[in-house]
Amino acid sequence: MKSLDTRQRFLFDDTHIRGEITTLSESFKAIQQRQDYPPVINAILGEFLAAASLLSATLKFKGIVSIQAIGRGTITSIMAECSNNTQMRGIVRGDYQSIGDNENFKTLLGSATLAITIEPEGRERYQGLVPMDKDSLSECLEYYFDQSEQLSTKIKLAADQHTAAGVLIQEMPHSSDDEQARDNWQHLSLLLESLKAEEQLELDHEEQLYRLFHEQQVRLFEPENLQFFCSCSKARTAKMLVSLGADEVNEICQEKGLIEVNCEFCDQHYQFDQSDIDEIFNQPSVH
Ligand SMILES: [Zn+2]
Repeated sequence: MKSLDTRQRFLFDDTHIRGEITTLSESFKAIQQRQDYPPVINAILGEFLAAASLLSATLKFKGIVSIQAIGRGTITSIMAECSNNTQMRGIVRGDYQSIGDNENFKTLLGSATLAITIEPEGRERYQGLVPMDKDSLSECLEYYFDQSEQLSTKIKLAADQHTAAGVLIQEMPHSSDDEQARDNWQHLSLLLESLKAEEQLELDHEEQLYRLFHEQQVRLFEPENLQFFCSCSKARTAKMLVSLGADEVNEICQEKGLIEVNCEFCDQHYQFDQSDIDEIFNQPSVH
């Protein structure tokens, strides 16, 4: 399938409706590779990643979109992030090894909160929270768009262990509130509703859109490539140490001889010895 690890914008001619379609494969595998998630968790994480890819394409500026479920059960957090529009990372936290085969989105995340965080480059980040009380992540995100942006949005997500896919259509702000526009929206969102998960995971973007909207004039734009990329660095890890405070960091370093930090997204290993710590906290070195 030629659409793997890409995202494409599409537009319906003569309407105020735009769309985004994405499929993740190698990037998705790279994200799961360092962890040992059970299949049900992989599939849920896949939907979060596909959603992050779609949402980051709706930004009108450079920035990071992260979608995080914050739970209180076995799974405490599922997080997917798409930064600078094409770099993805994600993580699941919690006691996922004990999860049975019968668990699903609803049983694992039914009482969680969904946080959508947008971090525009160089500006203050903002966050929207919605309860995860719907049957699927798509429905929770549709509710978010309805509440926070007042934009009619329809999302279909699908994922198995190896592939994650998503399609979004959204009504762009427009002044004319005519019947035709409402009809167009109703018609296109009903068509999108008919898309099956197998089709999303098996067909390339052009085929999916043709299957859904062959009676419409659809303009499909050039694909953008998506990849797994972790934005961690020694400098950013040092900032995290600063937030812990000099006393605690010095104490750990004196006890263990050095401070070791593993990035939970990419497993990159960072080491700080006493002279690094002295430099981070700008304290006089005694060595
Ligand atoms: Zn990392």
